[in-house]
Amino acid sequence: MPEPILELRDLAKSYGAVEALRGVSLDVAEGSFVALVGASGSGKSTLLKTVNALVVPGTGSVSFEGEDVAALPGPALRRRIGYVFQAIGLFPHMSVGENVGIGLKLAGERNRAARIAEMLELVELDPAMASRMPSELSGGQRQRVGVARALAPQPDLLLMDEPFGALDPVTRDSLGERVRELHKRLGLTTVMVTHDMAEAMLLADRVLVMSEGRIVADETPAGLLSGAGGEEAQALVAVPRAQAERLARIDR
Ligand code: ADP
Ligand code: MG
Repeated sequence: MPEPILELRDLAKSYGAVEALRGVSLDVAEGSFVALVGASGSGKSTLLKTVNALVVPGTGSVSFEGEDVAALPGPALRRRIGYVFQAIGLFPHMSVGENVGIGLKLAGERNRAARIAEMLELVELDPAMASRMPSELSGGQRQRVGVARALAPQPDLLLMDEPFGALDPVTRDSLGERVRELHKRLGLTTVMVTHDMAEAMLLADRVLVMSEGRIVADETPAGLLSGAGGEEAQALVAVPRAQAERLARIDR
Protein backbone atom coordinates (compact mmCIF):
# COMPACT_ATOMS: atom_id res chain seq x y z
CA MET A 1 0.00 0.00 0.00
CA PRO A 2 1.56 3.35 -1.04
CA GLU A 3 1.93 6.10 1.56
CA PRO A 4 -1.19 8.18 2.13
CA ILE A 5 -0.74 11.61 0.53
CA LEU A 6 -3.85 12.80 2.39
CA GLU A 7 -5.02 12.01 5.89
CA LEU A 8 -8.37 13.43 7.02
CA ARG A 9 -9.26 12.89 10.67
CA ASP A 10 -12.69 13.36 12.28
CA LEU A 11 -13.67 16.36 10.17
CA ALA A 12 -16.79 18.24 11.15
CA LYS A 13 -18.11 21.49 9.72
CA SER A 14 -21.35 23.36 10.39
CA TYR A 15 -22.89 26.38 8.72
CA GLY A 16 -25.26 27.65 11.37
CA ALA A 17 -27.69 24.81 11.96
CA VAL A 18 -26.54 22.89 8.84
CA GLU A 19 -24.04 20.13 9.57
CA ALA A 20 -22.21 19.89 6.25
CA LEU A 21 -19.63 17.38 7.56
CA ARG A 22 -20.38 15.06 10.49
CA GLY A 23 -17.19 13.19 11.22
CA VAL A 24 -15.21 12.25 8.12
CA SER A 25 -11.97 10.28 8.35
CA LEU A 26 -10.17 9.20 5.22
CA ASP A 27 -6.73 8.23 3.92
CA VAL A 28 -5.95 8.73 0.24
CA ALA A 29 -3.07 6.69 -1.17
CA GLU A 30 -0.54 8.44 -3.39
CA GLY A 31 -1.32 7.84 -7.06
CA SER A 32 -4.94 6.89 -6.54
CA PHE A 33 -7.92 8.30 -8.43
CA VAL A 34 -10.78 8.76 -5.98
CA ALA A 35 -14.33 9.74 -6.89
CA LEU A 36 -16.61 11.36 -4.35
CA VAL A 37 -20.26 10.71 -5.21
CA GLY A 38 -23.47 11.70 -3.48
CA ALA A 39 -26.64 13.73 -3.63
CA SER A 40 -26.64 17.50 -3.86
CA GLY A 41 -26.01 18.97 -0.39
CA SER A 42 -24.33 15.82 0.99
CA GLY A 43 -21.10 17.71 1.75
CA LYS A 44 -18.89 16.79 -1.23
CA SER A 45 -17.70 20.32 -2.06
CA THR A 46 -17.21 21.16 1.60
CA LEU A 47 -15.05 18.07 2.08
CA LEU A 48 -12.97 18.83 -1.02
CA LYS A 49 -12.38 22.41 0.12
CA THR A 50 -11.11 21.36 3.54
CA VAL A 51 -8.20 19.75 1.67
CA ASN A 52 -6.93 23.00 0.13
CA ALA A 53 -8.03 25.04 3.16
CA LEU A 54 -10.73 27.01 1.32
CA VAL A 55 -12.95 25.68 4.12
CA VAL A 56 -11.62 25.53 7.67
CA PRO A 57 -13.19 22.60 9.52
CA GLY A 58 -14.87 23.19 12.88
CA THR A 59 -13.07 20.19 14.32
CA GLY A 60 -10.65 17.61 12.97
CA SER A 61 -7.50 17.84 10.88
CA VAL A 62 -6.24 17.51 7.32
CA SER A 63 -2.71 16.42 6.62
CA PHE A 64 -1.25 16.66 3.11
CA GLU A 65 2.13 15.03 2.39
CA GLY A 66 2.61 14.74 6.15
CA GLU A 67 1.91 18.42 6.90
CA ASP A 68 -1.14 19.96 8.57
CA VAL A 69 -2.77 22.13 5.87
CA ALA A 70 -3.82 24.65 8.55
CA ALA A 71 -0.11 25.39 9.09
CA LEU A 72 0.85 25.69 5.40
CA PRO A 73 0.87 29.13 3.77
CA GLY A 74 -1.92 29.58 1.20
CA PRO A 75 0.27 30.19 -1.87
CA ALA A 76 2.40 27.07 -1.22
CA LEU A 77 -0.72 25.00 -0.76
CA ARG A 78 -2.29 26.35 -3.97
CA ARG A 79 0.88 25.46 -5.90
CA ARG A 80 0.98 21.90 -4.61
CA ILE A 81 -2.75 21.23 -4.91
CA GLY A 82 -4.45 21.88 -8.25
CA TYR A 83 -8.13 22.77 -8.07
CA VAL A 84 -10.73 22.67 -10.82
CA PHE A 85 -13.78 24.60 -9.65
CA GLN A 86 -17.40 23.53 -9.72
CA ALA A 87 -19.10 25.24 -12.71
CA ILE A 88 -16.99 27.45 -14.94
CA GLY A 89 -14.34 29.09 -12.83
CA LEU A 90 -12.15 31.00 -15.30
CA PHE A 91 -11.33 34.64 -14.59
CA PRO A 92 -13.48 36.35 -17.26
CA HIS A 93 -11.32 39.49 -17.57
CA MET A 94 -8.13 37.49 -18.22
CA SER A 95 -7.12 35.82 -21.48
CA VAL A 96 -6.86 32.04 -21.69
CA GLY A 97 -3.07 32.30 -21.38
CA GLU A 98 -3.29 34.54 -18.32
CA ASN A 99 -5.74 32.12 -16.74
CA VAL A 100 -3.46 29.15 -17.33
CA GLY A 101 -0.40 31.11 -16.16
CA ILE A 102 -1.89 32.64 -13.02
CA GLY A 103 -0.39 30.05 -10.66
CA LEU A 104 3.02 30.45 -12.29
CA LYS A 105 2.77 34.23 -12.05
CA LEU A 106 1.90 34.04 -8.35
CA ALA A 107 4.92 31.77 -7.91
CA GLY A 108 7.10 34.50 -9.45
CA GLU A 109 7.89 32.65 -12.66
CA ARG A 110 8.88 35.04 -15.47
CA ASN A 111 9.01 32.86 -18.57
CA ARG A 112 5.50 31.56 -18.65
CA ALA A 113 4.66 31.48 -22.37
CA ALA A 114 6.31 28.15 -23.16
CA ARG A 115 4.74 26.47 -20.17
CA ILE A 116 1.30 27.92 -21.03
CA ALA A 117 1.58 26.56 -24.59
CA GLU A 118 2.67 23.19 -23.26
CA MET A 119 -0.26 23.07 -20.84
CA LEU A 120 -2.76 23.95 -23.58
CA GLU A 121 -1.36 21.15 -25.73
CA LEU A 122 -1.66 18.78 -22.79
CA VAL A 123 -5.43 19.34 -22.69
CA GLU A 124 -5.62 19.19 -26.50
CA LEU A 125 -6.18 22.87 -27.18
CA ASP A 126 -4.39 24.90 -29.85
CA PRO A 127 -1.69 27.00 -28.09
CA ALA A 128 -2.84 29.92 -30.30
CA MET A 129 -5.93 30.04 -28.09
CA ALA A 130 -3.84 31.66 -25.34
CA SER A 131 -4.79 35.12 -26.62
CA ARG A 132 -8.55 34.46 -26.61
CA MET A 133 -10.91 35.51 -23.83
CA PRO A 134 -12.92 32.86 -21.91
CA SER A 135 -16.18 34.23 -23.38
CA GLU A 136 -14.92 33.22 -26.83
CA LEU A 137 -14.66 29.54 -25.91
CA SER A 138 -17.14 26.66 -25.82
CA GLY A 139 -18.02 25.08 -22.46
CA GLY A 140 -15.76 22.12 -23.16
CA GLN A 141 -12.83 24.35 -24.14
CA ARG A 142 -13.28 26.38 -20.95
CA GLN A 143 -13.16 23.29 -18.79
CA ARG A 144 -10.00 22.19 -20.62
CA VAL A 145 -8.49 25.59 -19.76
CA GLY A 146 -9.59 25.04 -16.14
CA VAL A 147 -7.73 21.73 -16.07
CA ALA A 148 -4.64 23.30 -17.72
CA ARG A 149 -4.66 26.09 -15.13
CA ALA A 150 -4.88 23.59 -12.27
CA LEU A 151 -2.00 21.51 -13.65
CA ALA A 152 0.36 24.35 -14.68
CA PRO A 153 2.15 24.67 -11.30
CA GLN A 154 2.86 20.90 -11.40
CA PRO A 155 0.80 19.93 -8.35
CA ASP A 156 1.03 16.50 -6.70
CA LEU A 157 -2.69 16.45 -5.95
CA LEU A 158 -5.54 17.40 -8.27
CA LEU A 159 -8.96 18.25 -6.82
CA MET A 160 -11.89 18.53 -9.22
CA ASP A 161 -15.38 19.59 -8.23
CA GLU A 162 -17.93 18.36 -10.78
CA PRO A 163 -15.51 19.33 -13.55
CA PHE A 164 -17.62 17.98 -16.40
CA GLY A 165 -21.09 18.70 -15.04
CA ALA A 166 -22.00 21.40 -17.55
CA LEU A 167 -20.72 19.60 -20.65
CA ASP A 168 -22.47 17.70 -23.40
CA PRO A 169 -22.07 13.89 -23.09
CA VAL A 170 -19.51 13.46 -25.90
CA THR A 171 -17.24 16.25 -24.64
CA ARG A 172 -17.71 15.01 -21.11
CA ASP A 173 -16.62 11.51 -21.97
CA SER A 174 -13.56 12.54 -23.96
CA LEU A 175 -12.39 15.08 -21.36
CA GLY A 176 -12.88 12.49 -18.61
CA GLU A 177 -10.71 10.02 -20.51
CA ARG A 178 -8.10 12.71 -21.08
CA VAL A 179 -7.96 13.58 -17.38
CA ARG A 180 -7.61 9.91 -16.48
CA GLU A 181 -4.68 9.64 -18.92
CA LEU A 182 -3.03 12.80 -17.54
CA HIS A 183 -3.50 11.51 -14.00
CA LYS A 184 -1.44 8.46 -14.95
CA ARG A 185 1.13 10.22 -17.11
CA LEU A 186 1.83 13.00 -14.59
CA GLY A 187 1.82 10.69 -11.56
CA LEU A 188 -0.98 12.64 -9.90
CA THR A 189 -3.25 11.77 -7.03
CA THR A 190 -6.76 12.85 -8.03
CA VAL A 191 -9.94 13.43 -6.05
CA MET A 192 -12.97 14.16 -8.24
CA VAL A 193 -16.45 15.11 -7.07
CA THR A 194 -19.26 13.99 -9.33
CA HIS A 195 -22.91 13.14 -8.90
CA ASP A 196 -22.69 10.67 -11.78
CA MET A 197 -22.03 7.13 -10.54
CA ALA A 198 -21.29 5.82 -14.05
CA GLU A 199 -18.59 8.48 -14.51
CA ALA A 200 -17.19 7.70 -11.05
CA MET A 201 -16.95 3.97 -11.73
CA LEU A 202 -15.45 4.45 -15.20
CA LEU A 203 -12.73 6.92 -14.14
CA ALA A 204 -11.84 6.19 -10.51
CA ASP A 205 -10.16 3.25 -8.82
CA ARG A 206 -11.94 4.04 -5.56
CA VAL A 207 -15.46 5.40 -5.10
CA LEU A 208 -16.62 7.12 -1.92
CA VAL A 209 -20.32 7.74 -1.41
CA MET A 210 -21.33 10.68 0.77
CA SER A 211 -24.68 11.14 2.45
CA GLU A 212 -25.64 13.85 4.93
CA GLY A 213 -22.08 14.78 5.82
CA ARG A 214 -20.71 11.26 6.16
CA ILE A 215 -18.90 8.74 3.97
CA VAL A 216 -21.31 5.82 3.79
CA ALA A 217 -19.47 3.65 1.26
CA ASP A 218 -15.83 3.19 0.21
CA GLU A 219 -15.49 0.65 -2.58
CA THR A 220 -13.74 -0.16 -5.83
CA PRO A 221 -15.83 0.01 -9.02
CA ALA A 222 -15.64 -3.79 -9.23
CA GLY A 223 -16.88 -4.07 -5.64
CA LEU A 224 -19.80 -1.76 -6.37
CA LEU A 225 -20.72 -3.74 -9.47
CA SER A 226 -20.77 -6.96 -7.49
CA GLY A 227 -23.15 -5.45 -4.95
CA ALA A 228 -20.92 -4.06 -2.17
CA GLY A 229 -21.24 -0.70 -0.41
CA GLY A 230 -24.70 -0.86 1.12
CA GLU A 231 -28.07 0.50 0.22
CA GLU A 232 -27.25 4.10 -0.73
CA ALA A 233 -24.31 3.10 -2.93
CA GLN A 234 -26.34 0.39 -4.61
CA ALA A 235 -29.20 2.80 -5.29
CA LEU A 236 -26.71 4.95 -7.23
CA VAL A 237 -25.24 1.96 -9.10
CA ALA A 238 -28.74 0.82 -10.04
CA VAL A 239 -29.25 3.83 -12.34
CA PRO A 240 -26.54 3.18 -14.98
CA ARG A 241 -27.06 -0.58 -14.63
CA ALA A 242 -30.77 -0.29 -15.45
CA GLN A 243 -29.96 2.00 -18.39
CA ALA A 244 -27.42 -0.49 -19.75
CA GLU A 245 -29.96 -3.31 -19.45
CA ARG A 246 -32.65 -1.29 -21.20
CA LEU A 247 -30.25 -0.44 -24.03
CA ALA A 248 -29.31 -4.10 -24.38
CA ARG A 249 -32.99 -5.04 -24.71
CA ILE A 250 -33.69 -2.71 -27.63
CA ASP A 251 -34.55 -4.73 -30.75
CA ARG A 252 -32.09 -4.43 -33.58
P1 ADP B 1 -22.49 19.18 -2.21
O1 ADP B 1 -21.23 19.67 -2.81
O2 ADP B 1 -22.48 17.70 -1.91
O3 ADP B 1 -23.70 19.54 -3.02
P2 ADP B 1 -21.95 21.14 -0.14
O4 ADP B 1 -20.70 20.69 0.51
O5 ADP B 1 -21.85 22.25 -1.11
O6 ADP B 1 -22.69 19.87 -0.78
O7 ADP B 1 -22.99 21.58 0.97
C1 ADP B 1 -23.30 20.79 2.11
C2 ADP B 1 -24.32 21.54 2.95
O8 ADP B 1 -23.72 22.71 3.51
C3 ADP B 1 -25.54 22.03 2.17
O9 ADP B 1 -26.66 21.95 3.00
C4 ADP B 1 -25.20 23.46 1.83
O10 ADP B 1 -26.36 24.23 1.69
C5 ADP B 1 -24.40 23.89 3.07
N1 ADP B 1 -23.38 24.92 2.74
C6 ADP B 1 -22.30 24.74 1.95
N2 ADP B 1 -21.56 25.85 1.89
C7 ADP B 1 -22.19 26.78 2.66
C8 ADP B 1 -21.92 28.13 2.99
N3 ADP B 1 -20.84 28.78 2.54
N4 ADP B 1 -22.80 28.76 3.81
C9 ADP B 1 -23.90 28.12 4.30
N5 ADP B 1 -24.19 26.85 4.02
C10 ADP B 1 -23.36 26.17 3.20
MG1 MG C 1 -20.91 20.70 -4.61
